Amino acid sequence: MGRKVIIAGNWKMNKNAAEGAALVEELKHICADSGCSCCGEVDVVVCPPFTTIAAVVEAAKGTPIKVGAQNIHWADNGAFTGEISGDMLKTSGVEYVIIGHSERRQYFGETDATVNARLKAALKYGLKPIVCVGELLAEREANRTEAVLSTQIRGGFAGITGEEMAGIVVAYEPVWAIGTGKTATPEIAEAAHAHIRGELAAMFGTEVAEKVRIQYGGSMKSANARELVAQKDIDGGLIGGAALKAGEFAALIREALGK
Ligand code: PEP
Repeated sequence: MGRKVIIAGNWKMNKNAAEGAALVEELKHICADSGCSCCGEVDVVVCPPFTTIAAVVEAAKGTPIKVGAQNIHWADNGAFTGEISGDMLKTSGVEYVIIGHSERRQYFGETDATVNARLKAALKYGLKPIVCVGELLAEREANRTEAVLSTQIRGGFAGITGEEMAGIVVAYEPVWAIGTGKTATPEIAEAAHAHIRGELAAMFGTEVAEKVRIQYGGSMKSANARELVAQKDIDGGLIGGAALKAGEFAALIREALGK
């Protein structure tokens, strides 16, 4: 469908400024040494913690590597201790922002309504959102996966225009696969991705839904990236653990491209 593959590394609460810059430097060297042009062929994004962003933006300058944040607040500024605004991210050189990661939903009370508010702030500041959805193990076992995904999509993307939706990245992350080493099979992942695209088509029309990039996330690594990204509706990955080592991340990018 001509959708460009997007591989994003979610560093979570790992890597201080020096460590983050070193990881990007190592990634640059691996790409240069191997003559690999993968970072130009796919969108490669790294999402460090807030205090590491400046160092990573500096290290990534002049390369195709893009920088993302892991959260954004819906207000422009004000009394929101511990939060970060769209303006702060934009002026720090951030291009992407992860919204509604399952760890935010699980540990910090994120809901579809707050996801929606954060999404609107990201769009207001010209940031490219990566919006995470996904079911818990108990929900999958109760055959509620599709219903859960539909609710998250309907709530998370309420009030968004079709034009905005076409530029939003959705990350399907089954919660039972995150950080557990249990990857969804390509068939299970593809079925969920197809459902998500169908739900987007119902909300925004087929033309828009076909433009939306849907990443898979949940223990993706170099060993399984190829078969996952080969699926019709899987357009890349949101990567946790495997994004923390430059060699593995670079190998994963190559596999996702089928090289
Ligand atoms: C994530 O945190 O988004 C994730 C997919 O983590 P992991 O790759 O470690 O499962």
